[in-house]
Amino acid sequence: MIKLLIFGLLGFLAYTVFTAVTRTLTGGKRPLPPHKSRQGEDMVQDPQCGTYVPRGDAVEKTVGGQKHYFCSARCRDEFTAKKR
Ligand SMILES: [Zn+2]
Repeated sequence: MIKLLIFGLLGFLAYTVFTAVTRTLTGGKRPLPPHKSRQGEDMVQDPQCGTYVPRGDAVEKTVGGQKHYFCSARCRDEFTAKKR
């Protein structure tokens, strides 16, 4: 009978740890699909560092008549400096 209680307790503990771990793994930082953000927004690739950013969050800059999107002002500046 005691054995059964111990097994029950162990099972409960394992379950608690398992749910806590899966919650931290899946909570918040769910991997995004490559070309769409969570809101279904278009994803654009930063030509400087290769990061995908939602179009709404991207830093926009037209270089040589072509529109480019960057993850940050720093990447934009580095890219435009390289193009000059
Ligand atoms: Zn970047």
